[in-house]
Amino acid sequence: MCGIIGYVGLDDAKKELLKGLQALEYRGYDSAGIAYCQPNGIKTIKTVGKVSCLKDKVAKEAADDVTTCGIGHTRWATHGKPSVVNAHPHTSCDGRIAIVHNGIIENFAELREELEGRGHHFKSETDTEVFAHLIEEAYAETHDLMASVREACTHVVGAYGLAAVCADEPGVIAVARKDSPIVVGVGETGSYVASDVIALIDATRDVVVLEDGQFAKLTPSGVEYTDEAGNV
Ligand code: GLU
Repeated sequence: MCGIIGYVGLDDAKKELLKGLQALEYRGYDSAGIAYCQPNGIKTIKTVGKVSCLKDKVAKEAADDVTTCGIGHTRWATHGKPSVVNAHPHTSCDGRIAIVHNGIIENFAELREELEGRGHHFKSETDTEVFAHLIEEAYAETHDLMASVREACTHVVGAYGLAAVCADEPGVIAVARKDSPIVVGVGETGSYVASDVIALIDATRDVVVLEDGQFAKLTPSGVEYTDEAGNV
């Protein structure tokens, strides 16, 4: 299981994500990526290899992008070889939802078959990608990212630390956890999520360790915690 970082607030999210990923490098990983909200949708940038390569790619491809909400990941491949396509974040068919995931989804083969049967197109070989499509299906009903993440989790057997963003809710990061560490923090300029407190240490000492079955909705002004039924 490797690294997750997310930031929503007043600062440049790309900078916060790359800083967080660099702090998580000690864990070892094979690829890295970020996804962030833009006025016309979600932009994703991924590389195989070091976070420094990702940093260079972001500088080349996204220097002028302004964004205050995004998620990032360093991957240690469990399902599917290390490659740009298999690197996280993964996106829904319509590209409007992006997710990062640590852990293993045990029933991903059944879920993938069901989702493909309902018309979903998979881009990667990962177990993770089922989450993007499950959330997309739920979002079509709920139009609520946090509720859609909760709904998606009811179908998944396995371990997950998960963070999701949606182009239609550009100031929100939805977070879930089961058997994979997740911490949430509120700093001076915004809210953070990470898989390891070390990624947040420069930003805040106001940190909450999420428990299994708890969910967190991050916005620039703070965090709302809910249980599996959506109770605050
Ligand atoms: N199982 C996922 C994958 O292979 C996540 C791996 C991780 O935790 O880094 O893509």
